[in-house]
Amino acid sequence: MINRERLLAEFFELARIDSPTKNERQIADILKKRLENLNMIVTEDQAGVVIGGNCGNVFAYLQGTLPEAPVVLFSAHMDTVDPCIGIEPVLQNGLITSAGSTILGADDKSGIAPILEALRTVQESNMPHGDIQVIFSVAEEGGLNGSKNMSKTWLKADLGFVLDTGGQPGTIILEAPGQDRINVTIKGKASHAGADPENGISAIVVAAKAISSMHTGRIDEETTSNIGTIKGGRATNIVAERVEITCESRSRNIEKLERLTAQMCNTFNQCVAEAGASAEIEVLRLYDPFKLDELSQIAQLSAQAAQAAGLTAIFGPTGGGSDANYYNRYGVPSVVVGTGMQKSHTTEECIEEEDLYNTAKLVVEIIKTVANLKTSFLVGEVKV
Ligand SMILES: [Zn+2]
Repeated sequence: MINRERLLAEFFELARIDSPTKNERQIADILKKRLENLNMIVTEDQAGVVIGGNCGNVFAYLQGTLPEAPVVLFSAHMDTVDPCIGIEPVLQNGLITSAGSTILGADDKSGIAPILEALRTVQESNMPHGDIQVIFSVAEEGGLNGSKNMSKTWLKADLGFVLDTGGQPGTIILEAPGQDRINVTIKGKASHAGADPENGISAIVVAAKAISSMHTGRIDEETTSNIGTIKGGRATNIVAERVEITCESRSRNIEKLERLTAQMCNTFNQCVAEAGASAEIEVLRLYDPFKLDELSQIAQLSAQAAQAAGLTAIFGPTGGGSDANYYNRYGVPSVVVGTGMQKSHTTEECIEEEDLYNTAKLVVEIIKTVANLKTSFLVGEVKV
């Protein structure tokens, strides 16, 4: 039986621990102890060193009683977005919010707490199960840098569940976009804005032309683009010499993603050339998209587990990336599971206490469902 009070207390405790991106040491040390107390073999990789953080990804492995069953992965990320220092969670009428001017950190502690509670429940009830792997990742926010730099050889699972999206428990994400980051520096020519404007080339005007002739926002149902930041210019009496722009493109279809990124770069290059300016453009593929079939084994067993937990299974795509993008790329078919987190990345972030409970129930039912399978089961093909 899931211990609802223990789960809530766990969530509160985790929410109170400061864990900004690349600063996950404190929460990682606590979680490592929790996992060791669950008789798991716990290790930490070197991702933190690579990305300049103070902590690596935490891996834990529990040997099951059913060696024939596939190895199942449950994963959530430890880092939270700003403002996340001094979070004080408050429960009122079944809804958990932050007390004040911070986020709540349900993204993604509403994934971590139910995973721990589900493992406790499974062990207390002596439920037969296969091997279970848990990964608590670092630096998921801001580009999946933890999973990107993960020790891939430590990934032992046959299939994975990443608890890291909104939507009521039972929400199963089978498709997520890939993302490119585009960093552009436009170099024009400075001159006196009053005395000698003819000799200047305004990098700001060039940037404005390029951006205004680009498609931004929603391109189609699976493709988006955004101009994220722009900075440049020094004073009103100087024709602006330099502008730096950061943009992104996303699509669940890799050809569309590549086409959109190329179009955005071409538009910058064209406008720069017309004005006699120059540009440096850097394109970084943050992660590839993934797509799992609704008829794949992982989708079907997710639905079965949701039903067993008394939840409605809802298949859907998402517009955001998660560690599942990398697990799929590393060959572990993985879906993203809704935890009920709401208004993530805002100070109004909240979650129903009921949803923490339902998420833990779902994890237990996934463990049960996977326990009934044989390793030889065919996992759905991952398309990227
Ligand atoms: Zn998240």
